[in-house]
Amino acid sequence: MSTTPEPALRTQGLVKKFGSFKALDGLDLEVARGEVHGFLGPNGAGKSTTIRVLLGLLRANGGSVELLGGDPWREVVELHRRLAYVPGDVVLWPGLSGGEAIDLLGNLRGGLDKRRRDELIERFELDPKKRGRQYSKGNRQKVAIIAALAADVELLILDEPTSGLDPLMEAVFQDEVGKEKEAGKTILLSSHIMSEVEALADRVSIIRQGRIVQTGTLEELRGQSRVTITATLADPPADLDALSVLHDAVLDEHHRLTATVEPDRVNAAMAELVPHRMSHLTVSPASLEDLFLRHYDTDGRAPAGEVEGVAR
Ligand code: ADP
Ligand code: MG
Repeated sequence: MSTTPEPALRTQGLVKKFGSFKALDGLDLEVARGEVHGFLGPNGAGKSTTIRVLLGLLRANGGSVELLGGDPWREVVELHRRLAYVPGDVVLWPGLSGGEAIDLLGNLRGGLDKRRRDELIERFELDPKKRGRQYSKGNRQKVAIIAALAADVELLILDEPTSGLDPLMEAVFQDEVGKEKEAGKTILLSSHIMSEVEALADRVSIIRQGRIVQTGTLEELRGQSRVTITATLADPPADLDALSVLHDAVLDEHHRLTATVEPDRVNAAMAELVPHRMSHLTVSPASLEDLFLRHYDTDGRAPAGEVEGVAR
């Protein structure tokens, strides 16, 4: 009956325990072919554990996992020819040069596009002649990123790949991953850098304590989130509570009002503000960072009173 094409990867009800601790607690994640999927969550949420299960490095205790139509635990060799993986803490062979490591990784996979490899070495300003042991953290990341992006594979699994890269190289990374996306590759990108995910991801899944708490396009996630309004009020009300459509309203000494409002009530908010002689108006959608932070307080727990998913 279903005509949806098979996804690049899918987990259903995935459970992974370490002793009595449930690192994954019924995780449902689905990534369509050809999409860049942002995988967001604070430290310890279960991103790397999920990825290790997808790579066949860990065996789940429950639920199902499907990768490129196969079983990552049983079909390790076949599947790893079709994917490339970059961890957040790359370990290299100490005696091999970076160039040799890139070629070795390429050969372990489905092969390497040599022209693309050379182009990436230049763009990331990597010296491929140094030995693994001589590279800094950032340069080890570059070696793994170049090897993955130049590999002739369908799927890239990137687990906080840019940790240790400076902002200039972060920009190169975004640019080059964008090219791979255009070339039709599927990319799972676990990241804590919101701008990176915002720039690249078609869809995003937010993980908290081993479960996906929100998934969708940025647009969909934003559609459920309040927008922020700032306006200067020449004639502000004595009591901000009188502005009943607005939430979290604050007025500074320059008569500048900041507040949030449900996306479908912007019009009503304008009607409330106009009598107070409004000027310098801006209305901004929630940033990915706002969306993300709504799911956490500083302990990584859900904010009090918030129901899974949609904020009210
Ligand atoms: P993330 O990548 O989102 O930061 P992880 O998947 O690395 O999170 O970790 C999820 C949780 O599982 C953490 O609480 C972590 O301490 C725990 N954990 C991960 N690997 C192991 C392990 N091998 N043994 C015991 N606990 C682990
Ligand atoms: Mg991790």
